[in-house]
Amino acid sequence: MEENIFNREHLVNSLPNTSKWDVIIIGGGATGLGVAVDSVTRGYKTLLLEQVDYAKGTSSRSTKLVHGGVRYLAQGNIDLVREALHERGLLEKNAPHLVKNQSFVIPNYRWWEGIYYTIGLKAYDFLAGKLSLGKSTHINKTKTVERLSTLRKKGLYGGVVYKDGQFDDSRLAINLAQTAIENGATLLNHFKVTDLIQDPKGKITGVNAQDTETSKEYAFASDLVINATGVFSDEILKMQKKDARKSIVPSQGVHLVFDKSFLPGDDAIMIPKTDDGRVLFAVPWHDKVLVGTTDTNLDDHSLEPQAQEQEIEFILKTFNNYLDKPVKRSDVRSIFAGLRPLAAPKDDSEKTKEISRSHKIIVSESGLLTITGGKWTTYRRMAQDTINKAISLKKLPKKTCQTKDLAIHGAKPTEDRSSYLYIYGTDQEALAALTASNPELGQKLHPRLPFTKAEVVFAARNEMARTVEDVLARRVRALFLDADAALSMTEEVADLLAKELNKDEVWKQNQIQQFKKLASQYCIDASPVSA
Ligand SMILES: Cc1cc2nc3c(=O)[nH]c(=O)nc-3n(C[C@H](O)[C@H](O)[C@H](O)COP(=O)(O)OP(=O)(O)OC[C@H]3O[C@@H](n4cnc5c(N)ncnc54)[C@H](O)[C@@H]3O)c2cc1C
Repeated sequence: MEENIFNREHLVNSLPNTSKWDVIIIGGGATGLGVAVDSVTRGYKTLLLEQVDYAKGTSSRSTKLVHGGVRYLAQGNIDLVREALHERGLLEKNAPHLVKNQSFVIPNYRWWEGIYYTIGLKAYDFLAGKLSLGKSTHINKTKTVERLSTLRKKGLYGGVVYKDGQFDDSRLAINLAQTAIENGATLLNHFKVTDLIQDPKGKITGVNAQDTETSKEYAFASDLVINATGVFSDEILKMQKKDARKSIVPSQGVHLVFDKSFLPGDDAIMIPKTDDGRVLFAVPWHDKVLVGTTDTNLDDHSLEPQAQEQEIEFILKTFNNYLDKPVKRSDVRSIFAGLRPLAAPKDDSEKTKEISRSHKIIVSESGLLTITGGKWTTYRRMAQDTINKAISLKKLPKKTCQTKDLAIHGAKPTEDRSSYLYIYGTDQEALAALTASNPELGQKLHPRLPFTKAEVVFAARNEMARTVEDVLARRVRALFLDADAALSMTEEVADLLAKELNKDEVWKQNQIQQFKKLASQYCIDASPVSA
């Protein structure tokens, strides 16, 4: 029988075969996974360790846009926008099953907005060059209402339509992990880096890590360690130098998810300037509507950031300003928060919105490379820059980047998105074969969501899912789409996974308990203290 290259046991057992790695990457979010794909496809021996699961951090909590950032254009950050638009075009080509061409409408409630945004968006189209996803246009009030039937009609002048990319963030993360493994890298989730190994001169020579499933400790050798831990970067920087300067400021962004009936049709809404000068999106996503985000400075970070009451109120109020039929708290299907790993300013007086959204590579005296900031859209470019930096520092022999035209696992031209399974790309066939081999697996896990038992088994066998949360949060997106429905699926998923992964009843009960606790945080509190 053919060896399953995504089997965790097989990957763990193969670790002793490599006595020294060319590159060790800490962190399995967009940034780390991008670096792993770049590194291994240049031919370097690559190891990536992720403490929980791929995209457990910020990379599963984005607004799901592959975009240049209309807002950065308004701020005059032309280079950042041009770079991101270029990357948007590459990603649409390399992962067409995941990146979809999405039209956005900016509704105009002031007479001058139509002209103002049409001109601005023409510049956006221009910067995309050959990789443009389509021209932006001005539409009148009747057309705007035809496209956005739930939009507030009173005071509406018209709208400006533009195109951007829309994707599934954690699915892309899993597909990137698979791409790296298929090219010969070793990637392990649920594997935490606990310390950096340094020689007497302080130079980094490897990492200590723990397999959190077995508690077994490991030491891995490499002259190049890359810190791609997002908002956790400073913890790794402190492992090599206790008084390392703060490099990250976390800024929290919250999203609320509603039923599609609040925004029927195919268009997204882009609100370019909310009451406090932010951008707010309402985006169709897996037959729901995702609305966000906020931008709240935080002093601290965690793996499960919590939405603040004022952030929830802000989104509800702002979204309702644009709707004829208001949404209520009880309409919220899921609520999730993510932390932007913004590069810290040198001068502490700068505010979050002005802090650089472009990426930054820090080279520490110990030899540690830290890659921070940036966005999902630019993950490939960030990876290329990081490995190029390592080459320029003579930490790696020179080899050229291969990722510009590299197809990502599952890549398949995708026009027809009528079945939600399009997201699996070329894996759709294997999933269908699994269901055909055991028709019981075709049963849905919950009447409100399309996901089936087969997807749980598939996630365990082919997508490195190890826990109920891995499946329901990041393989199928149940937790992010309808947290209450995800809660109801817990026992069934734990049961299927226990059988697949050969786990006992104690493991199963632990999983059920842990996931229920987590999922309850994604359900909105119907009567908050301050409401
Ligand atoms: C609210 C919000 C909306 C956004 N929307 C968009 C968008 O629409 N489009 C876009 O392009 N970008 C968007 N972004 C930005 C984008 O999501 C981030 O730039 C990107 O996900 C950051 O990825 P990362 O890999 O650097 O960090 P993370 O995804 O946080 O990954 C870091 C990983 O490191 C792991 N880790 C930490 N410590 C250790 C350790 N000791 N050992 C092993 N592993 C460790 C963590 O578990 C984590 O998985 C958004 C960001 C936010 C917050």
